[in-house]
Amino acid sequence: MMKVTLRKIGTTPLDFEIKSDEITFKGYLQYYANKLILLKAKLYGKIITNCDICANEFKLDINEELEFFISDGIYEKNEKYLLDVVELFDATADLKELMNSEIELIKSDYNSCEECRVVQ
Ligand SMILES: [Zn+2]
Repeated sequence: MMKVTLRKIGTTPLDFEIKSDEITFKGYLQYYANKLILLKAKLYGKIITNCDICANEFKLDINEELEFFISDGIYEKNEKYLLDVVELFDATADLKELMNSEIELIKSDYNSCEECRVVQ
């Protein structure tokens, strides 16, 4: 189950679990309101990234809690409720793609390998 049709997501949480290499993306999707779907998940395991100090590749342990909303189409921002919303336009949520974009975000953070961390 990599792609989920947004309209099929109801108020009963829909569990998902995706494993890729050494990473697990596990959580659920649940209909919230006004075409918004809550995604709550954990992203954990190891990813390969480059050290920002020595530039060597290394395995980074990650353990992230994710919580955001998916909008089925354009989300009309509401000043009263500032939500973390990802807009999707093809009526489906590609969980693998969502996972990969989270991994890219982590990789773009400042990361240092174990050896460089010992020196500091
Ligand atoms: Zn390093």
